Amino acid sequence: MTENTAKAEAGWSFDNSYARLPEIFYTLQKPVPVREPKLVVLNESLAESLGLNAQALQGSEGAAVFAGNEIPEGALPLAQAYAGHQFGYFTMLGDGRAVLIGEQITPQGQRVDIQLKGSGRTPYSRGGDGRAVLGPMLREYIISEAMHALGIPTTRSLAVVTTGQPVMRESEQIGAILTRIAASHLRVGTFQYAAQRGEGDELRSLADYALERHYPDADADTAAGGNRYLALLRQVIRRQAELIAKWQLVGFVHGVMNTDNMTISGETIDYGPCAFMDAYDPATVFSSIDTQGRYAYGNQPYIGAWNLARFAEALLPLLHEDEEQAIKLAEGAIAGFTEQFHSHWLAGMRAKLGLFNPEPEDEALIKELLKLMHKHRADYTNTFRALTHRQWEETALSGDEEFESWLQRWQERLSRQEETQEAAEQLMRSSNPAVIPRNHRVEEALEAAEKEGDYSVMQRLLSALANPYAHTEEQAEYCKLPEPSLRPYRTFCGT
Ligand code: AMP
Ligand code: MG
Repeated sequence: MTENTAKAEAGWSFDNSYARLPEIFYTLQKPVPVREPKLVVLNESLAESLGLNAQALQGSEGAAVFAGNEIPEGALPLAQAYAGHQFGYFTMLGDGRAVLIGEQITPQGQRVDIQLKGSGRTPYSRGGDGRAVLGPMLREYIISEAMHALGIPTTRSLAVVTTGQPVMRESEQIGAILTRIAASHLRVGTFQYAAQRGEGDELRSLADYALERHYPDADADTAAGGNRYLALLRQVIRRQAELIAKWQLVGFVHGVMNTDNMTISGETIDYGPCAFMDAYDPATVFSSIDTQGRYAYGNQPYIGAWNLARFAEALLPLLHEDEEQAIKLAEGAIAGFTEQFHSHWLAGMRAKLGLFNPEPEDEALIKELLKLMHKHRADYTNTFRALTHRQWEETALSGDEEFESWLQRWQERLSRQEETQEAAEQLMRSSNPAVIPRNHRVEEALEAAEKEGDYSVMQRLLSALANPYAHTEEQAEYCKLPEPSLRPYRTFCGT
């Protein structure tokens, strides 16, 4: 077999629409080749759904492509420029350690970005080495795939390779590259960049591009009154409200909701210091660098609104030629976020409690449960799981009189609805995950991989996480809490 037919067999089908944007948005940049690429994880089902031949990508051929040592035909690698508010401060950024190799057109005609993360320095690297470390890349792989299985829009993880080159952090680490799949890598920060750097029509080109790629039906948004850029703003707000509500419902703490880490597509992106909350507490924060708790669990909806206001600001020149009018339109759209978020959250919480129809007292019922969970530091996931399985005596709340009276009110509320108890239980099962990527389980999987080169622990974890709503016997093992530890769990940002 010649090399060319082998490449064709991998199933790559690239287009490079991003490279047709004005020049300020990117720099053509090839990944920097690595010494000894080795494929350690390949997401075979994702590969197949993208029209790729998983078998052809196993082994050295996949390793060479996913390491950036070989550029598949049709790919046009580039580093994207963007800006962002990081912890509230505006900075010019860009892909400092990633390249978009191209957009794969799937057999269903979808366009997805194929990005290598950890692929070497770019013009946007600032002081960084352009590289990534194995642990955090495996962590992104596990958590992004778990999010997908939970039904939460997210970038996906196709593969991880080790590079054979050590990476210097606080100590020497194993170098690795993650292949990330995204509906696109357009960020709120990309628009901030265009608004800041653009001199002509760049902002409009970007907005048109985003509309075409993510919101082709934006014209149908009649509330935007034929203003397609207002429609873009409204649609991004709509998707982010839905996304952040989903995070809250499963107890996901993103950890670094900078505007460069908020997508226009509505997918979760950038799994640096994220983690799932265990004990219910709105102040939960895991990131070692978030000393102020800016991105704490309970703040995520407010930060979402703040970030979207930055998006609206960037769009102002397109919203209306008169600035005051533009601001009015932007404010009207942003005001919708809180209401939309709240209605998704409330609907999701009802489902978690097995409630089909709305009643005015539901929110008070939900909030009281959360208050009790907070008081007892009850595990968020396991409390809802126990309610689902009617095993409330197993929760940390059991024995509390207020909880007993809450239970009674909840049972009465359930019996007032037309649906049967079985139907309510079914709804609860499909709304309350049995398993989430618990921090100690993730750490255990990473440690086996890093220290022993043993990926079987990670593979077992991935299969437990693949059907979080199945509530099987095998999953019970993954529901257990860690032994109490003296130190609070901390994550370290994107290293
Ligand atoms: P993040 O915190 O992962 O969202 O990254 C913020 C910015 O820092 C992005 O522009 C990254 O590309 C850049 N960055 C992070 N780590 C590195 C690195 N090791 N080398 C170069 N740039 C980096
Ligand atoms: Mg980022």
